[in-house]
Amino acid sequence: MTKEKKSSKALRALPSVDALLRTETARALLEEAGSQHLTALARAVTEELRAELQAFDSKVELANGDHSREALLAEAARRLERACRQETRRGIRRVINASGVILHTNLGRAPLSDAARRAIYEEAARYCTLEYDLETGTRGRRGARVEQLLAELTGAADALVVNNCAAAALLTLSALAKDSEAIISRGELVEIGGDFRVPDVMAESGARMIEVGTTNRTRLSDYERAISERTRLIMRVHPSNYRIVGFTATPALKELATLAHEHNLLLYEDAGSGALVDLSPRGLSGEPVISQSIADGADIVTFSGDKLLGASQAGLICGGRELIERLRRAPLYRALRADKLTLASLEATLDAHRRGAAFREIPALRMLSLTYEEIERRAKSFLKRFERLLRRSEQENESSSKLSYEIKRGQSAIGGGSAPTTHPQTALIALSHATLSAVELEQRLRQSKPPIITRIAEDRVLLDLRTVAEDEEQEILEALKDVNRQS
Ligand SMILES: *Cc1c(COP(=O)(O)O)cnc(C)c1O
Repeated sequence: MTKEKKSSKALRALPSVDALLRTETARALLEEAGSQHLTALARAVTEELRAELQAFDSKVELANGDHSREALLAEAARRLERACRQETRRGIRRVINASGVILHTNLGRAPLSDAARRAIYEEAARYCTLEYDLETGTRGRRGARVEQLLAELTGAADALVVNNCAAAALLTLSALAKDSEAIISRGELVEIGGDFRVPDVMAESGARMIEVGTTNRTRLSDYERAISERTRLIMRVHPSNYRIVGFTATPALKELATLAHEHNLLLYEDAGSGALVDLSPRGLSGEPVISQSIADGADIVTFSGDKLLGASQAGLICGGRELIERLRRAPLYRALRADKLTLASLEATLDAHRRGAAFREIPALRMLSLTYEEIERRAKSFLKRFERLLRRSEQENESSSKLSYEIKRGQSAIGGGSAPTTHPQTALIALSHATLSAVELEQRLRQSKPPIITRIAEDRVLLDLRTVAEDEEQEILEALKDVNRQS
């Protein structure tokens, strides 16, 4: 038979949309996808099959070359299921982060503590006291409890919460320095991932940016010379995601505060990741501690909720009572304020800090504090369990294991645009597969349920248990058991 004849015969055997929708596969997908949407997908799938059959010179062999009615229907059903599955995978789904990057920006930065998750699910997700005072039965102030906790933990007189740190910077500059001048060092004109650029935010706020000094060195006298009657504030930005090393200089925050106050100006620090406690005993130095910045005389400090604080996305603003009140009254605040889910998670997280339980309860801080020895111990016990699993499966299937593994010394990362030079030592599990390449193995793990995110180095897939919760280890074992059987 010629190719042309073969394809027209196959075309006649192509299932109709209705026939496809009557298959067991389609009926099982009905509730999840909704009938209208499932019909649209079924139409797309049959169209796709038709196009492939018409292209008779196509190298694609449909349904293994079997173009009977049954084989094509089965192929269509398989594609329909895959299309549905691919669509749901595009939504927000939990993943297991085995990459070792603690504040992985693409994976939602900080994972929430149990208490924060409970606060969202059990308190804020229903009717809640977002703006309601239970004592008086009248309207209360949104975020009042979080603001109080923040003030307590940072030593600031008052605090305010907005959507993220970019919003915090925009609100601060706009409410306090619009139509006047703000002085900033050329060494601090940073870009943070996701398009936060200091000069752009400054322009958007209506403040006029006055750059002083050079990329690597800025002196107090550079700031002083730039002060005019139009100056309103001095801005200090923490260069979160990069470091300038070598011949560098920048005045201490305290010196800047003295200069600013002598000239009746404000000192505003954008601290970025902003730690609530000094993390240098845990190996992470060079991150501003918010209470220290306030003690050193900063009038306003802003930082992120989902970096080293370990909560959900938020922009936290701490400062003097009168200044914070001006931000609270600014029309822009209404557009940038945080929602109830964010406030609930923040409140629970800040409460852990207040109780001194931060390193025990907040996942990002707990992960950061894990030593090499602790991770190595976990990796060894994980591999012991995996070995047992493999042996059992070898006996059952009478086939040998395809996966080989070893523990290898390596490094984790902080991520989230914080501490670019800090790389905690870690014990990596390096995996290779007898028939799958590292790229294929990484992909299989990414497609398992829940997806497991790993990295590849030297042709092996690396798992870093630093960022894996202990209750996720079993899920990884199951996924590895599955890939071990695949070829
Ligand atoms: C991360 C960061 C920001 C942006 O914070 P988001 O919460 O992501 O908006 C702003 N400034 C600095 C210095 C940062 O490190």
